[in-house]
Amino acid sequence: MMESYIESGKIASKIRGEASKMIKDGTLVIDLVEYVESEILKSGAEIAFPCNVSINEIAAHYTSPANDKTKFKAGDMVKLDLGAMVDGYIADTAITVIADGNIDENYTQDEINLHEEIIEASAAGLEAAIATARAGIEVSKIGAAVHEAISEYKLNPIFNLTGHSLEQNNLHAGISIPNYDNHDNFILEEGQAIAIEPFATNGEGWVNDSPGHYIFSYLANKPFRMKNTQRVLKYIQNNHRYVPFSGRWITDEFGERRGNIALKQLAGAMAIYPYAPLREKKGYFVSQKEHTVVIEKEGCTVTTI
Ligand code: MN
Ligand code: MN
Repeated sequence: MMESYIESGKIASKIRGEASKMIKDGTLVIDLVEYVESEILKSGAEIAFPCNVSINEIAAHYTSPANDKTKFKAGDMVKLDLGAMVDGYIADTAITVIADGNIDENYTQDEINLHEEIIEASAAGLEAAIATARAGIEVSKIGAAVHEAISEYKLNPIFNLTGHSLEQNNLHAGISIPNYDNHDNFILEEGQAIAIEPFATNGEGWVNDSPGHYIFSYLANKPFRMKNTQRVLKYIQNNHRYVPFSGRWITDEFGERRGNIALKQLAGAMAIYPYAPLREKKGYFVSQKEHTVVIEKEGCTVTTI
């Protein structure tokens, strides 16, 4: 188990580093997500969830649909969140970078400084969390450490986003790792794998659903009259039963119209769960940094370093 966590962690962190170099003015978001996903497969690992690329006030849960025309603009605050899986043991890791280019054409020096501080704050939150994580500690203590570190920058964590426990083939295995002291007294045990993911913002620290669904999870078998919908459900059951999948993978397989019709029906009948992109209020910026760690007696091992 530990070997597989270390292996998936190495793969994910290597790809995170290489892919982050693509984040610059004019690059298509879809080129980045397809690069990340194909590199995970090339490495011999499996994709633990669609590559998330979330820009500026979007905090999480955006991935490109087919033919996505979205391009990075110089100065965009880009969260790149990716997951690799070896024997079902998941590495979940994220980084925030400012899209390269003529940034001062789009932002003032004061704004650029603020954006750098927002990125630093989530990194400081993650460091404080990792320094706190060990067997026997309550998860709320990790949240308190994150909140305190981000508060020093006079910024807020995102209060309604959390890290999570990981289990074999299970990305969100039931335990939440908060980004503030939520008084959850669940105690971490040696050997437990968790993803810690502080988000920092100059907004209020609360995200809401935004329109569109690009990422889905399989929920349950349901009967459908339409052949097309039945076929898509079968395909999802065979290929994406355990971890989240991209709508783009479905439309690549079944065509854009048919794929999207089926996804809508499946979501409506709760055969699959649609994730909405999550966003702060317009005009605010959100950063995220995430590592997967395995809890030890006296600390933790970061697998995605
Ligand atoms: Mn993640
Ligand atoms: Mn995560």
